[in-house]
Amino acid sequence: MKRTLFFLLSLVLALSLGPAAYAGGETPESAELPPFETVTFDGEEYVRLRDVRAWADASAGEAVVLRGAGILDASHNGEVMDVLVRDGYIVAVGENLIGDRVIDLTGYTLLPGLIDSHVHVAGSSGYGIENLTTWARHGITSVREEGMLSTSGEMEFIDLIEEANADPQSAYLVSCGKYFDVPGGYGMGPTGNMGVVIESGGDIIAEIDLKAELGYPQIKLGINSDTNRMSPEQFVTAIDYAHENGMPVAAHINYARYLEELVGYGLDEAAHTPSDEMSGDLIDGMVANDVRMNTSGAENYEEQKVANLKAFYEAGGFITVGTDLMRNYDSCMTALSSEMAVLAKAGLSVQEVIACATHNNALALGIEDTGDILPGYQADIVAVKGEVDESFAALSEISFVMNDGVLIVG
Ligand SMILES: [Zn+2]
Repeated sequence: MKRTLFFLLSLVLALSLGPAAYAGGETPESAELPPFETVTFDGEEYVRLRDVRAWADASAGEAVVLRGAGILDASHNGEVMDVLVRDGYIVAVGENLIGDRVIDLTGYTLLPGLIDSHVHVAGSSGYGIENLTTWARHGITSVREEGMLSTSGEMEFIDLIEEANADPQSAYLVSCGKYFDVPGGYGMGPTGNMGVVIESGGDIIAEIDLKAELGYPQIKLGINSDTNRMSPEQFVTAIDYAHENGMPVAAHINYARYLEELVGYGLDEAAHTPSDEMSGDLIDGMVANDVRMNTSGAENYEEQKVANLKAFYEAGGFITVGTDLMRNYDSCMTALSSEMAVLAKAGLSVQEVIACATHNNALALGIEDTGDILPGYQADIVAVKGEVDESFAALSEISFVMNDGVLIVG
């Protein structure tokens, strides 16, 4: 029912409804907040903004209320509340919100758009916007390209990033460009130069400068062998210089011993969970130094990875969820659900797993206003019918996807 009279606009991105309106969580920094008030209409109480003069601003977009779903994210565990969306942002979460249009989602679970923090968009078969629209259609509204597996150039890839990130039909793309390794190292296979080949310290500085200039926000290093690998000095140079440029550093590792070494050099994120046993010292060192660990590929070597993830989580470790998907993009949500189910086996609750795949992943991608259903956050929202259990199979039946505030499925 349209009750525009009672809805007032605001371009303010961060609103607070007070403690009764939503449970827990942190809101982004709020600017000056037009206060809300409660009005009675047809015998029911509604929440609206107080400043009616703002309604005169006809340029603001339609205000849409998502009504009646249980919210599941880092700060809500199934509470039924309305979500008010306008101009691409969530502007309010609470009870009895009113706007221009209501979408009834009674019986659904509402989640932040899922995020896959370890994918490969640019593979040997090329890349294009269609990979990214596939992710978005399946409810994965942001992805991180964890290393271009491609012989094509980083400069051209920037064009795809710009195209994708201006298009609500596409998943938002964060990329670390090509990863670094030495000749003969990880991914420098017979198909050609897939990464940035490092010969000396000078190369590293120049290559990081180039990435920074092109706008890549993160970098990735490779270590996959005891012989063909960067030296300790090269790792330290790369990590220190990336940090000087404000770029977090992830690394491809398969084994705990490589991770141990890189944690000592200041690594920010392991792009995989090791396939062998992680020691208590390694885990404590990662937690103490805020080193994140990605689940990526946790389905393989599952038993050991479950044990590693469990120990890491119980020690207070920061888990990100990724699939390492590089083909068959139509299976993207099945792949992500499998990674999430592994985390449930490691002892995390359904809500904690969802928080890893949304809130934590958003922080790791550097997109802090994404990944939660809270006022001030991007309106990247998905809905599934019924409840989400620890198989996470429900996510493969996404029936509603809103990306950047635009309804693309549903
Ligand atoms: Zn990968």
